[in-house]
Amino acid sequence: MALQEDDFKKVISHAKEYGFVFQSSEIYDGLSAVYDYAQQGVALKNNIKDYWWRAMVQMHDNIVGIDSAIFMHPTVWKASGHVDAFNDPLIDNKDSKKRYRADVLIEDHVAKIEAKIEKELAKAAKRFGDSFDKEQYMATNERVAGYIATSKSILARMGDALTKEDLAAVKELIEELKIVCPISGSANWTDVKQFNLMFGTKIGASADSAMDLFLRPETAQGIFVNFLNVQKTGRMKIPFGIAQIGKAFRNEIVARQFIFRQREFEQMEMQFFVRPGTQKEWYDKWKETRIKWHYSLGFSEDNYRFHDHDKLAHYADAAADIEFKFPFGFKELEGIHSRTDFDLSSHEKYSGKKLQFFDPELNESYVPYVVETSIGVDRMFLAIFSKSLEEETLENGSTRTVLKLPAVLAPTKAAILPLVKKDGLSELAHEIFQELQWDFAVSYDEKDAVGRRYRRQDALGTPFCITVDHQTKVDQTVTIRHRDSMEQERVAIADLSGIIDRAVSTKHWLKKMA
Ligand code: ATP
Repeated sequence: MALQEDDFKKVISHAKEYGFVFQSSEIYDGLSAVYDYAQQGVALKNNIKDYWWRAMVQMHDNIVGIDSAIFMHPTVWKASGHVDAFNDPLIDNKDSKKRYRADVLIEDHVAKIEAKIEKELAKAAKRFGDSFDKEQYMATNERVAGYIATSKSILARMGDALTKEDLAAVKELIEELKIVCPISGSANWTDVKQFNLMFGTKIGASADSAMDLFLRPETAQGIFVNFLNVQKTGRMKIPFGIAQIGKAFRNEIVARQFIFRQREFEQMEMQFFVRPGTQKEWYDKWKETRIKWHYSLGFSEDNYRFHDHDKLAHYADAAADIEFKFPFGFKELEGIHSRTDFDLSSHEKYSGKKLQFFDPELNESYVPYVVETSIGVDRMFLAIFSKSLEEETLENGSTRTVLKLPAVLAPTKAAILPLVKKDGLSELAHEIFQELQWDFAVSYDEKDAVGRRYRRQDALGTPFCITVDHQTKVDQTVTIRHRDSMEQERVAIADLSGIIDRAVSTKHWLKKMA
């Protein structure tokens, strides 16, 4: 069975125990909301990035990639609006002295109402069986319709208050909803204040000549300032996209959800430049393409949902999140934003340089509109990792912990295990290992009984275990054990490469998007 909400701790401890994710600077008691990826974690993370890069860059002849610097000219952040508007509303509880994001407190309150709706729907589905019509029930059942209306009205009021930057109204809403601090249980709140999330630093050797800089809070601006360079040197024609994977930094107010919300994290962003007026069409297309990418990994589709924004960022004319069912509920995994011509126009204004495209079909120049897809590598990691971790009860009553990672993302594709160390089996297993190593990330393990080695590979998410036994010496066959079904079959050594390739190749997985 997949893990439930209260098992989030198991996810975190599994990530640590098996060498996926460690707290940063752990020997110094750690640094809050900063994490290190360990030997297994880095491989999973690289595979996620590769899966995204191939889907976005390699499979689109009109999308190219870049890798821009983290440091940028400080005026970039003035032009992008981050200096003035990259704020989160914070509120403190006077009793517990804990700090919260005011919008998150309200959203969590709404999530509780949504959980009630889900509960009512599940009950009704059970009661009505096959004849259950969910949509109709939601519209006609008084209690459920009431919950839906309340959630909507709370979110609309919050959206409105935040858009108008009316922080008093945000506090009023928190008080009216009787939201209490989960630690102190009290509603003794401070006023709501704005807090800028950018980290500042300095460049230059001497104090007087040093220049104030920011660590980039998103990778997107590195793409915008290079728009014309890439368009010209790549001879790109609109519509086209520029993709980038890289680190971003945000001084998050509250960061208590493991790698979900970090102060240093990684983004995979793609800015798609389109003709003005066509942005809605492209926005819809990218929503569809991106959700298909998620579905291609094989987790059930009810783990994903779209959430259309009520409160639009200063640059957007439409925005939606792809939310994922994390162990702590549905939360944003990816954002798809129709950013209009805000960024390029603003950079034109601040830099004094034209950032336009001459459209030969229209015979005119214009500032392109932009549709962006933006996903956090670390959130994707957490989504995949938490959804893959299962505890199974086997037929003999024992349990096993298994990480059912999509094979394309698994850090190790196969483990080669000699049944025993003696009789030349180690040497034979090594030969197989060395041959497969050319094409796949494989590992070799001869320690402990083979059953324990299987369990260890299950916990690491390795899709195949290949066992070399005495018969191997006779007929050049091995057993191959499948992680999820635990089935074993006898196959020729010569066939191993093909079997593994069919299961793990990116092509095989990405084709599911078609
Ligand atoms: P949230 O509302 O959760 O703070 P956001 O709307 O500010 O997120 P965006 O600015 O749209 O996020 O960033 C795009 C993506 O980057 C997000 O969908 C998420 O996957 C990732 N991301 C943003 N902030 C963080 C963070 N602090 N830690 C890890 N990933 C993050």
